[in-house]
Amino acid sequence: MSNSKINVTIWNEFVHEQKEPSVKALYPVGIHGALAKNLAAPDLEIRTATLAEPEHGLTQAVLDNTDVLLWWGHAAHDKVDDAIVQRVQQRVWNGMSIIVLHSGHMSKIFRLLNGTSGKLHWREAGERERLWTIDPAHPIAAGVPEHFELPNEEMYGEPFMIAGDAKVIFISWFEGGEVFRSGFTLQRGYGRLFYFRPGHEAFPTYYDPNVLKVLANAIRWAKPTLSMPYPKTHAPDPLEKLSPKTFEFSKVGIIKS
Ligand code: ZN
Repeated sequence: MSNSKINVTIWNEFVHEQKEPSVKALYPVGIHGALAKNLAAPDLEIRTATLAEPEHGLTQAVLDNTDVLLWWGHAAHDKVDDAIVQRVQQRVWNGMSIIVLHSGHMSKIFRLLNGTSGKLHWREAGERERLWTIDPAHPIAAGVPEHFELPNEEMYGEPFMIAGDAKVIFISWFEGGEVFRSGFTLQRGYGRLFYFRPGHEAFPTYYDPNVLKVLANAIRWAKPTLSMPYPKTHAPDPLEKLSPKTFEFSKVGIIKS
């Protein structure tokens, strides 16, 4: 965090693009590569990381030098090592922010940080999606229209199992009639989380200017304001002098040293 640029790491499982020709045609350098290219800006230092790399490309050194982590996963959630997931969670608690994309709602890291199952209804029919900006004053909505459309997307529908403290910025309506909380934020420790729904691998969603605008805004909003370990909670030395207590009480759970 010493330089003025925001250090962004775009993580992608990078499975569909290598297995399915239609997805590879849309994203020849992977979803991570497309996002890195399309989000490039002078104030961002962007790197990418993928599942197949050692430690999934998310070594402690990489995470320590990441301000904002983007996460796209779908087919290989279970292949993500639990130790790496815990490492990411710890970094979020200490101040790194994370932007979870689309099917990342079922990733280990999202479910861990969200605290509920993250489940939802879904349908793959290439239907029209209309996103409504319901919190236009939020920095992530800056310059984003009151509503915009994606001609073809996967449908995600409510109920979406997300945490009760989620602050919703975007709601989607789908051609089939469902609605969905498509963009929301959570605070987890010192880190911020933003979930953004669009981004099914079969469609060119990550070339859409409004989608890119939201992600670009989210990265700037998520720039950490504080990066440090949360302090230990034992505080044996009070600020004020404690009055003598006239009763005896047991000290269950207190470790004497
Ligand atoms: Zn999808």
